[in-house]
Formats: sequence, C-alpha cells, structure tokens
Amino acid sequence: SSRLEGKRVLVTAAAQGIGRASALAMAEAGAQVFATDVATDLLDKLTHDNIQTSKLDVLDLASIETGVATAQPDVLFNCAGFVHHGDVITATDEDLEFAFDLNVRSMVRTIRTALPGMIERGGGSIINMSSALGSIIGAPNRMVYGTTKAAVIGLTKSVAVDYIKQGIRCNCICPGTVESPSWHDRVTALGKEMGSYAAALEAFVSRQPLGRVATAEEIAALVVYLASDESAFTTGHPHIIDGGWSGQ
Ligand code: NAD
Repeated sequence: SSRLEGKRVLVTAAAQGIGRASALAMAEAGAQVFATDVATDLLDKLTHDNIQTSKLDVLDLASIETGVATAQPDVLFNCAGFVHHGDVITATDEDLEFAFDLNVRSMVRTIRTALPGMIERGGGSIINMSSALGSIIGAPNRMVYGTTKAAVIGLTKSVAVDYIKQGIRCNCICPGTVESPSWHDRVTALGKEMGSYAAALEAFVSRQPLGRVATAEEIAALVVYLASDESAFTTGHPHIIDGGWSGQ
C-alpha cells in the first residue's frame, strides 16, 4: 500500500515486539523506515526493501544524534521501554531512576533532537509508547512502570501543544497486554511466583475482557494510522487499544 509513501520514519526498540511489527507495517505501507535498537543481532534479522537498520541506544544522546541525522525523520516512533516489577515499597530509587531514563527521558532526548528538522521540513508526527497501565488504569506491582508511562502522556500533551502551529502532531499509544518476547518473560516470572505458568497466563489474559492479549501487529496498525496523514486531525492524545481492559 502507499499510505506512508514519501515518509521517513525513525523507530526505536525495533528489534522485537511492537517496535519490530510497527517497523514492518510502516515499511509495507511505503515508508522509508530506519529501524533501530541496541540488540543488533536481532536487528540483523529484520529485513525488508524499505527498512534500514542501525544501532541506537536511547540512553545515549550521541547515539540519538547520529540516528536522527541519518534518518531525518518525518515520523518518530518512540517505542523503547522497560517493565519493572514491584510496588512502592519494594521498588528502589535506582529502579525509578533507570525506568525514567529509559521510558521517559529517552523520549525527551529523541524528540528534542528530531524536532528542529521536522519543523524545517514543514511538519511531522511523533508517536510515543505509553500504556493503558499508568494514568488510564492501575495494575499490581507496576508502580515504577505506571508512573513512567503516565509521564509519557504528560510529555505527549506538552509537545502537542507547543508545536501544533509548526505542523507537528504528537500522540501516544496506550496498549493493554501485548504478546512480545518481554511479555513472555513476565509470564514466566509470574508463573514461578504463582507456582504455575498456566495460572500466570490466566492472570494476564483474564484482565482483558476480550479474552486474549493483543498481537504486536494489532498495535502496529494504530502506529501506521498515527504516522499517516489519515490521522491529521488528532494530536495530544493517548490512543487506548486495550481489549476492553479500561473501558468497562
Ligand atoms: P519488548 O519489551 O519485548 O522489547 C523491547 C526492546 O527494547 C528490545 O528489542 C530491546 O533491545 C530494546 N531496548 C532496550 N533498551 C534499549 C535502549 N537503551 N535503546 C534502544 N532499545 C532498547 O517489546 P514490547 O513488549 O513490544 O514493548 C515495546 C514497548 O511497548 C515498551 O515501551 C513497552 O513498555 C510498551 N508496551 C508493551 C506492552 C506489552 O504488553 N508488551 C503493553 C503496553 C506497552
């Protein structure tokens, strides 16, 4: 298809999960995709005529500057993020510090770096990965994660308001539980805690009223929409896609 024809896209955390599925979906839609991650071994397996891969560590400003200079993106998809397990007592300050750096400050850094070029070229679309979990709905043992993902919504609204006159749109995505490699790790870890993998799986699935978790491709479809001009009239919003989790 040609929904993203002529668009240059920079994706972080594109080696697996939602980032990977989104890079592929946007490439299929005709975009020139710059798919980046720290996991270069996995990135090497991401092959498509419209995809160029390179190492980009969102914790490192120099790495971001190189990536943005190469990609010169019209669309920036900030997908990198980490799920920390624990509550307000068990989480340490270091956990919070690390999560804010990876889940929030990384996006401040990439947006700050990519914005001037976007403005110069007449506009752009920034898509930040938040979560339904955070300011939309709470979940057990997700204090650090929920706090950072709520902050992503605040960041999104700020950027949207400040740059709307320069043709910049900024939205974020709030998925429910999505099948991905790190999600499988979380189910395995909870399974050890609960005594069975099946019980852990049931705990994750049962909170989705739809009766299943999402595929990464289902989230990628929303990313394609927000990247394209079809979404020209939406900015500053969390776009919830959560199998009915928070919509009851
Ligand atoms: P994942 O967690 O399986 O993969 C994460 C990727 O991030 C890996 O490829 C990893 O190498 C990369 N990464 C880690 N540190 C990085 C760094 N410093 N710089 C660049 N890349 C780095 O993928 P996922 O589960 O699809 O999650 C992707 C995003 O979606 C995250 O922000 C996550 O919080 C969010 N999210 C996931 C779910 C879910 O249930 N899976 C739900 C809501 C939101």
